Amino acid sequence: MKIGIGGIYHETNTFSATRTGIESFKRNYFIGVDMIENLGKSSTSIGGFISSAEKNNDVIIPVLYTAATPSATISKKAFRKLVNDFFHSTDDWEKMDAFLLAQHGAMSVEDNEDAEGYFIKKVKRKLGERPLVVTVDYHANISEKMICNCASIVGYDTYPHVDIFERAVDAYRIVKAINSTAKHDCLSNIFLKLPILGVPQAISTEEGVFKQAMEKVHYYEEDPDIANITLCGGYVYADRKSTGISIVASYWGESGKAKRAVVDIGKFIWDNRERITVENTGVREALAQASASADFPVILVDVADNVGGGTPGDGTVILKGLLDREMVGSVVYIADPEAVNSCMKKGVGKNIKLKIGGKTDDVHGGPVQVDGYIDTISDGEFTNIGKNMTGMKTKMGKSVLLIAGGIKIVLTQYPTPPFDPGMFLKMGIDPSKERYVVVKGAVAWKTGINTQPARAIYVDTPGLCSADLNSFDYRMISRPVFPLDEFDFIIEDNIKYYSN
Ligand SMILES: [Zn+2]
Repeated sequence: MKIGIGGIYHETNTFSATRTGIESFKRNYFIGVDMIENLGKSSTSIGGFISSAEKNNDVIIPVLYTAATPSATISKKAFRKLVNDFFHSTDDWEKMDAFLLAQHGAMSVEDNEDAEGYFIKKVKRKLGERPLVVTVDYHANISEKMICNCASIVGYDTYPHVDIFERAVDAYRIVKAINSTAKHDCLSNIFLKLPILGVPQAISTEEGVFKQAMEKVHYYEEDPDIANITLCGGYVYADRKSTGISIVASYWGESGKAKRAVVDIGKFIWDNRERITVENTGVREALAQASASADFPVILVDVADNVGGGTPGDGTVILKGLLDREMVGSVVYIADPEAVNSCMKKGVGKNIKLKIGGKTDDVHGGPVQVDGYIDTISDGEFTNIGKNMTGMKTKMGKSVLLIAGGIKIVLTQYPTPPFDPGMFLKMGIDPSKERYVVVKGAVAWKTGINTQPARAIYVDTPGLCSADLNSFDYRMISRPVFPLDEFDFIIEDNIKYYSN
């Protein structure tokens, strides 16, 4: 089999007032064999595709794969360039027997209500009858257009995401089955969109409703007639029609068993929707509780400045509290290229007075005046060693360890989600030896801390990933939706069928 691989990967926070340009993608922009060299050995979706194809002696035709850190809506110009580069990265489209596409599933572009659907449809048009299977993140907001234009959608089953590679192997298995068996024409999909907005903390698969729902997914997937079930918790910081929880079952032959599975999983989640909510601790109270703790490290989770959810990563609300309370033994990461530059001009071993953070917008706290010592300057690059996208290179950009009042402040050029322990090691920090570690995330930080914290306090900070959904001005999402509206929802009336 000759198999095309690639993808344009982005989770878009549409509430951010800024725009994401092409430069954010260019940090991870792999055309042709570059993709195999950079990602072939990693536990990413592309790594899973490559590894599977190599094991089966298939010919891999790498097109373009690019991924930007979650951030604001992608500009029209940048998206045009991405799509154009994607289709012009190879002359071998006609030679492919199938395509595996690695998407996030919650990408938004200016003036394009369904950028994921648009792009997947374009890829499918290029392929014609040849099968296309798409992998998506657990936070995908799956649209009808996405499902209409591929044979199957395979989402991660874990959050924190630790099965990205394995799900890519599943996608390969499906594409191989479509191409090599008499079942060629009979893989179909059932889709159910649940009108529920679940904030990241409430949709972890390690506990609660989604742990139980995922157990049901795995139970039904044991049936050989069910090729795959994708349950996506969705991404609520996208004001899009497709925002919400999705269940897609890909099945061979008759629909009966797949329908029963989707209805059962859907009913379970809908009936337990009141449990899909969270309550966080106010900033003052959180800092008081952390100060009072006798055991360390205490993780202070900056929920609303969740870099993995598309925020600027320069929120200062917790940092200010730590400085005011003189909480020695704290670690905070702040994305601030301007401050990094100032520190680089001064040099290692020097003291510096400067304002850091709070510069991107006015919702994550203002800049904080700091008088610090420049301890380390680094290129900020490391290879992931944890459970999330192991083996992939992460680029924080030029990074500085600044020590102010006994608090370690790491200034990075680019916002960097706390997904991998390499982020700390690179700057000479061992979270297990610190007292208070601030992580700008909701759930995924658990793969970034290589120690068992004494406790984690989820702090009700202000920002673009706040757990308070009433603080967002939703205009485009499908209504009614839980928990914003009160309404009845009949699962059976909302099941949709697609054949490809
Ligand atoms: Zn995700």
